[in-house]
Amino acid sequence: MTDRLTPELACDIGKARGTDYFLMKDQLTEEEQDLLYTVRAFGEAEIQPVINDHWEKGTFPFELVPKLADLNIIGDWNMHDYGCRPISAVGSGLVVAELARNDTSIQTFIGVHMGLAMQSINMLGSEEQKAHYLPQMARLEKIGAFALTEPDHGSDSVSLETTAERQGDDWILNGLKRWPGNAVWCDYIIVFARDVADKQVKAFVVEKDNPGYSATKIERKLSLRCVQNADIVLSNCRVSEDARLKECRSFVDVAKVLAGTRNGVAWAAVGNATAAYDIALTYAERRVQFGKPIASNQMIQRILVEMLGDLTSMQLYVLRLGRLIDEGKMTDTMAALAKYYCTVKARDVCRKARDVLGGNGITLDFHIMRHLCDMESLVTYEGTAEIQSLIVGRHVSGHSAFV
Ligand SMILES: Cc1cc2nc3c(=O)[nH]c(=O)nc-3n(C[C@H](O)[C@H](O)[C@H](O)COP(=O)(O)OP(=O)(O)OC[C@H]3O[C@@H](n4cnc5c(N)ncnc54)[C@H](O)[C@@H]3O)c2cc1C
Repeated sequence: MTDRLTPELACDIGKARGTDYFLMKDQLTEEEQDLLYTVRAFGEAEIQPVINDHWEKGTFPFELVPKLADLNIIGDWNMHDYGCRPISAVGSGLVVAELARNDTSIQTFIGVHMGLAMQSINMLGSEEQKAHYLPQMARLEKIGAFALTEPDHGSDSVSLETTAERQGDDWILNGLKRWPGNAVWCDYIIVFARDVADKQVKAFVVEKDNPGYSATKIERKLSLRCVQNADIVLSNCRVSEDARLKECRSFVDVAKVLAGTRNGVAWAAVGNATAAYDIALTYAERRVQFGKPIASNQMIQRILVEMLGDLTSMQLYVLRLGRLIDEGKMTDTMAALAKYYCTVKARDVCRKARDVLGGNGITLDFHIMRHLCDMESLVTYEGTAEIQSLIVGRHVSGHSAFV
């Protein structure tokens, strides 16, 4: 008679045991390894114990925000001034992966705040704007969101319809936005709108108490349940010229921000696949059926090896991509290929892990179903798998198949 397989016995999720098959660790600098283990320990101690309850209730764990601030992980290779920490691209990716290995809602919260909102200010703002917004956001005292998608324009957000009209020293924004994460409670939201005068897309920092701004939480989501996504109404929302990000002159500038974050989504997918493999391996070793661990069956071993092969290929993808970023050689289409490959593969790895856990696989307690549900969002947001394929397909074939 073995001990009943409780979630605690079945999942050593904090250990990430056996998930570095090709010794990726040897390729990391000391600082990158420190980051990896610091965030790993944080995830195990702080995220794991609370996350399933929040996920079930669809609430955001606000209690983690000051603790995340203490981790000092806000900053990267591109955003290293104004209170942000300089971190290599691989180091930044490891932070993303480790957060996602514990929970993708927490990783998405940081991804939207730092990768999209802060990075928009960093890449598209003036020096004065960076000095004003970034330090408080780097300390997580003020939280950001990013409003590009609209109810009628997701994949074709290039055609966005929200308008911006200049009136003296102010701008008047009107339109609808759908999906921005953090938007229900954030302090600053970056709103992309089309200037009625020159028809170009411009970016504005809208503050949460602006009377022309309202955000309603999107309820009944079955993925990333802790992330508070919103439907937004901009109704004669007046912002000053000071709130316009000066270097955003057209949609081309928006696309530059998105290219950087697609690399981050690929790392997040690796984090989910790492958790999935770890959970499946541990469970297979400990679950006894027909008098022996299910891991001793050929078919289960085949599934585990397929998962490990996919996980290892994803790790090599993102490690190489990170080094290419640090060498200034990453292109938009490389980021698109990595986002496409890693998210689709990671969803598959999570689904296989969920199979290995049988009935327990569909419960929150064993974690894997949360990862599988959350992978659905990673495949979709910041450009769906199909759209990433079209971006790469256009590059390799020389033909645009978008329309
Ligand atoms: C959890 C979550 C968080 C998000 N967070 C944010 C955020 O913080 N800020 C923000 O601005 N947005 C956010 N989004 C929006 C996200 O970026 C969009 O959902 C995504 O770009 C897809 O747009 P859509 O949902 O309108 O799908 P659609 O564009 O309507 O696509 C529907 C389907 O059609 C396919 N399709 C579309 N065009 C083509 C084509 N030409 N060829 C082949 N297939 C095509 C798509 O791949 C998809 O399968 C978030 C979305 C989710 C789900």
